[in-house]
Amino acid sequence: MDKRTPPVSQGPILKIALDTPLRRLLDYRAGETPAALGARVRVPFGRQQRVGLVVGHAEASELPADKLRAVTDVIDAEPLLDASLMGLLAWAADYYHHPVGSVFASALPKLLREGADAQDAVSLWSATPVGREALAAGSLGRAPKQRELLDLLATEGPLDADRLGERLPRWRETLRPLVERGFADREVERVTAPPLPDDHAGSASEHVLSADQQAAFNAVTGSLGRFGSFLLDGVTGSGKTEVYLRAIDAVLARGQTALVLCPEIGLTPQLVSRFRTRFAVPIAALHSGLTDRGRLAAWRSAARGEARIVIGTRSAVFAPLPDLGLIVVDEEHDASFKQHEGGFRYHARDLAIVRAQRAQVPVLLGSATPSFESLHNVQLAKTTRLSLPQRAGAAAPPAMKLVDLRAHPVSKGLSTPLSMTMKHHLDAGGQVLVFINRRGYAPTLLCKGCGWSAECEHCDARMTVHQREQRLSCHHCGAESGLLPRCPRCGHDVKPLGHGTERVEETLETLFPEYPIARFDRDSVRQPDDLEAAIDRVTSGEARILVGTQMLTKGHHFPDVTLVGVLNADQSLFSTDFRAAERLAQTIVQVAGRAGRASRPGEVLIQTEFPDHPLLTALLTEGYGGFAQQALAERAAARWPPYGRLALLRASSVSPGGAIDFLTAARRLGEGAAGVALRGPVPAAMLRRAGRHHAQLLVESGDRPLLQRFLAGWLPGVEQLPTPGGLRWALDVDPLEVF
Ligand code: ADP
Ligand code: ZN
Ligand code: ZN
Repeated sequence: MDKRTPPVSQGPILKIALDTPLRRLLDYRAGETPAALGARVRVPFGRQQRVGLVVGHAEASELPADKLRAVTDVIDAEPLLDASLMGLLAWAADYYHHPVGSVFASALPKLLREGADAQDAVSLWSATPVGREALAAGSLGRAPKQRELLDLLATEGPLDADRLGERLPRWRETLRPLVERGFADREVERVTAPPLPDDHAGSASEHVLSADQQAAFNAVTGSLGRFGSFLLDGVTGSGKTEVYLRAIDAVLARGQTALVLCPEIGLTPQLVSRFRTRFAVPIAALHSGLTDRGRLAAWRSAARGEARIVIGTRSAVFAPLPDLGLIVVDEEHDASFKQHEGGFRYHARDLAIVRAQRAQVPVLLGSATPSFESLHNVQLAKTTRLSLPQRAGAAAPPAMKLVDLRAHPVSKGLSTPLSMTMKHHLDAGGQVLVFINRRGYAPTLLCKGCGWSAECEHCDARMTVHQREQRLSCHHCGAESGLLPRCPRCGHDVKPLGHGTERVEETLETLFPEYPIARFDRDSVRQPDDLEAAIDRVTSGEARILVGTQMLTKGHHFPDVTLVGVLNADQSLFSTDFRAAERLAQTIVQVAGRAGRASRPGEVLIQTEFPDHPLLTALLTEGYGGFAQQALAERAAARWPPYGRLALLRASSVSPGGAIDFLTAARRLGEGAAGVALRGPVPAAMLRRAGRHHAQLLVESGDRPLLQRFLAGWLPGVEQLPTPGGLRWALDVDPLEVF
């Protein structure tokens, strides 16, 4: 017999997702106004009024009647999120073991989370003639609130939601009966969709698809209307984007919409403009560069189905799209698809696949350097590989060579073979791209007398020298200080050691004074405008040398670049992170792909002190595909992802031992589970960051459901552990970085 007292029926109950650390839905008594699944409501929470989302209805609650509070008001007459998206979010909360309210909140623009009107229209409320008569006749004597509201509308109306909210906080509940009785009425002033930009031609493509492109197109469009997962594995410049555009064309022709995820829109304005010139439909761009209002407007135009294409970064995987027909994930290997900060650490590519499955639409993942996860899915036949082995048009693949730094003189980071080849290409009219994965002038400021170096006060890290701005800056916590002329310990001269983009630019200015340089890093490119200006300087041919960081690896099209130089590949060769090799190979291949994209042949020189390193030799002799096969075999042998499954419990504390103590206690709770191994806790690679001590506990399993069950059983206990002195923790399922 069930010992629990059966729940007493308390009338219709709403299950509400509220953005709190609680891992469950909260029960509230429904008000008079029906609240649809997916609509927002305002509810009391402690002493506050909070906005939550209705995710379930129930007849009864486990809560005693006196604990059960009522919904304050219903904000949306129509659901904000449809059932399919709600299902995705519930799935994500489960899979990433993150509080459900926080997961739902992350799917909404900030202004909607705060209760803003979901319609991009201003509703104006006023009293009707009947209402005025009723008012005059005093017929609302027994409903003082309604009377007050109607009076307000009659004397000061029409009024919009913001005004009404200022005057009468609970006006929505009060207004409803007034409207039902015909005493008050609403007019809607529709704010129209933003006009299409001028360059908006909607022009058809001039290209005839190559046979490989056509085959890829056929496979994807053959799957429209049902789930299918496709990996478009095509070298840079092979026409992947062209395939996306054609497939989207087909989707639009069916009256459906398309969602395109890309790593960073701010860094790839060319991608968005290519879509805009191609399609005669409104396109919404969702990315971090938007203001709150702009984000809301884009979200609304997507939700209403006005925007037929949504292009967005990571969080756009939650964009509302009626009639979704296709999801494209461009540069699917890119690490920025993983949310790696805050609590809800999801992977947008992985969620895109789940979303496509739930919505029964195809998902197209494109990359020149596919993630090992996607390659593994191809091995398992969960994903169909579509390959574009050749560059489109006349472009030939670039020739890659290593420059042995031990055998050649190096001056200021540049080897003689590289500077000579640069001169050759520049004199022949080509552009040259120099890649160095480090911004600033130099990574270290060093004393020649005593060996002192400038360290960050808050992190176990060195301060980076920024020469032009005469400052030292910590790239981990943002701390800054002035540049020191002398050693604070012994008074000797100090010297910048090593190279960053700023210093390389300076070196190149002296080496090639006649060739103007464009620099691409977060110091020189702070806004999308800066980036467009820099890109313009390159495409117009004014700048002849490009110097930059990762920013240069992101899908730009520079047809006249004929030489790419990679200055410091070696840093990652001996990293302890099991993904370091994969990431380095991707970076090298991506940056190399910027060379020779038009009719001129390209050349790539990679400087290294380890020319015999197996990663580099595999990459050079067999290309990314060959490298990936070898590296995947190593992962399989070690049972690392994608062959094994990981979760990482990360903790940080102000006190030195706090994080380790917490994780040790967490480990004790989880000990002994079959099929799951706990490793650690260990201090993080950078123990102290921004004044906090970081540590982590790794959870490993060969089996995903097993790991999931373990986490579900373990976390409630972890949550109960004491968190003294500002200890913070977060669980990272499928972490990208483990050390
Ligand atoms: P990717 O996305 O793989 O880097 P793109 O789609 O950007 O490749 O194509 C690279 C270049 O080749 C672009 O300038 C594009 O217009 C051109 N291109 C694409 N497909 C074709 C084709 N079938 N015939 C001729 N040129 C093409
Ligand atoms: Zn010194
Ligand atoms: Zn710091």
